[in-house]
Amino acid sequence: MGHEERSHALLSASGAHRWLSCTPSARLEEQFPDTTSEAAKEGTLAHELAEMKVRNHFYTTAFGKRKLTAGINALKKNELWRDEMMGYTDIYLDYIKSVSLALKNPPYVTIEKQVDISKYVPEGFGTADCILISGNTLHVIDFKYGKSPDGRVEAEENPQLSLYALGAYEAYKVLYHIEEIKISIVQPRLSDGISEWGCTLEELLTFGRYVYAKAELAIKGEGEFAPGPKTCKYCRARGRCRARAEENVRLAFSPDKDKLPPLISNEQLGVYLNQGMDVAKWLSDLQDCALAECLAGQEVPGWKAVEGRGSRVWSDMDEAFSKLTENGISETVLWERKPLTLAQIEKVVGKKDFETFVGDKVVKAPGKPALVKESDKRPAITNIVSAKDAFKEDI
Ligand code: SF4
Repeated sequence: MGHEERSHALLSASGAHRWLSCTPSARLEEQFPDTTSEAAKEGTLAHELAEMKVRNHFYTTAFGKRKLTAGINALKKNELWRDEMMGYTDIYLDYIKSVSLALKNPPYVTIEKQVDISKYVPEGFGTADCILISGNTLHVIDFKYGKSPDGRVEAEENPQLSLYALGAYEAYKVLYHIEEIKISIVQPRLSDGISEWGCTLEELLTFGRYVYAKAELAIKGEGEFAPGPKTCKYCRARGRCRARAEENVRLAFSPDKDKLPPLISNEQLGVYLNQGMDVAKWLSDLQDCALAECLAGQEVPGWKAVEGRGSRVWSDMDEAFSKLTENGISETVLWERKPLTLAQIEKVVGKKDFETFVGDKVVKAPGKPALVKESDKRPAITNIVSAKDAFKEDI
């Protein structure tokens, strides 16, 4: 099945994190169109490339070098193709190779396997990027092409991949004596992009029973709404959902009524920031929703759509520049010559050559301090000078 043709069931594995927490969301989402983004299309293209590379590595006879090259050349015609995809998909392939080489026996490998999860989720199925089975271990490996650290996906108790593991277990349990489950997510565009987790078969089956009970509610549109930043982030009903609206109004406008000191404490600062994050996102979703309504000719009381500030552009730049030079304006005034940024050069040259030619000329300047959630992997920093550093300066 082509990556872009992957169907979306009412209870999709990729949306499981949402409908497992907020069971009525699945039926509510049905009322809104399933749109795709440029980033999703780019991810699909990278997935196709990754799949071909893994296929070429494990099934060299059926999918040899010539087929791989032809496949890559076809992908290169896509307007979203970027040469950097070659390097990122190599990271994914290298990870699978390293896992496979570390095994005692060569694993059974299947790529882009459509797994039937209907035993746990009515009419449910999903497509696992790569499944390795060796000894009594089933390993599901997933490729994700997102580049935002906020979008980092963790393998631990990941519902989507746990569902794929359940589907794979059902498909192979007759042939293999599976006892251990491993899940890996490779997100090569993130600096710390590999996330791994494991559980026993018994734990996975317990999850399966939990999913079954939730799916029964979700399919009927029953259960409790559970608004929250992660749950609502990609929900198609996010701009219209009453539960989310009420929750955000509560978060934004219902301060503690007790007599409190005039200044908020650091503890409250943290709490308000946490609460406010989804309020800001919710307001932006409301704006998108209202703008779409106004543009469709619907009335949203108190609001209207207008043309944004446009910017001036040349109708014919070559002619304009000729006229300017004819009138004595020097070319040097009209053009500026500036180097590409380090990241742009790395993109043009390719990661490998960049590292070989100028890797030793790169130093890492410290980034501007940024406020992130405590769960972020980066170590915390402060402005406080440590005794060790102060002593160093005195020498
Ligand atoms: S917007 Fe949030 S609360 Fe509302 S249905 Fe979707 S996930 Fe549930």
